[in-house]
Amino acid sequence: MEISHSAKFWGAFLSFTIFLGVYSDFNLMVASTEQTVLSSAKKSLAKFSEKMTEKAWGNVGAIAYHAGDRLMIDNNAKPQSLDEIQKEYLRPHFGDLVDRVMVVYSAVLMEDWVAASFKINVGRSNAQVYGHRVYIRDIYRPGDLQQIVLLAHELYHCKQYEELGSLSKFGYHYFFQYKKADRKYEKNIFEQEAFKFEKFFASWLANEVRVNGTRSRNRRAKKNSDMSLEPENESLDR
Ligand SMILES: [Zn+2]
Repeated sequence: MEISHSAKFWGAFLSFTIFLGVYSDFNLMVASTEQTVLSSAKKSLAKFSEKMTEKAWGNVGAIAYHAGDRLMIDNNAKPQSLDEIQKEYLRPHFGDLVDRVMVVYSAVLMEDWVAASFKINVGRSNAQVYGHRVYIRDIYRPGDLQQIVLLAHELYHCKQYEELGSLSKFGYHYFFQYKKADRKYEKNIFEQEAFKFEKFFASWLANEVRVNGTRSRNRRAKKNSDMSLEPENESLDR
């Protein structure tokens, strides 16, 4: 079904509001009059968003995800490639995607992935993905297998992004599915797939280390792997 002109108008209006919301989350100065306008806009949008269809969420997501990508680039340091150890463990599962992914450590993440009424509240997330860029809140930990497991989850999102073909398409479908999952973050099919893979990868990696030890060229990897690959007692916040 075609999107009506009115839906397009609302899409443009909402994305503008989302921009304002995102900027306010980054504590940029917003004049008080603008804040008043913003808060009343947010209230009406909250009501409006309840009634919006999955497709409408998708349309907002397509634009908002792009905006998020720009903001993350502007608010974070330059990304780095995966290191050799990370690539070695991840390549069997992701092929040469491991050469395309870039990572920012000690990243400033958005608490609300997209602000305003269309936010996806991810709680205090450990990491977020925008296209090929992975942002990790934690510092870079060379050889840390737990960080590699986290990366495996995030690379799964990079894979989903590549399969869909663009930031807009990923934004569209992620938001569509979020709405479809009754706005429950962990019930979104994108997350369910990523967590399923993460679980599989964690046990694969534990077995790999048990059988082969840390590989010869992985001398920097910690010996006992210094990790439990048990799922951490944390919420589904990746
Ligand atoms: Zn995830």
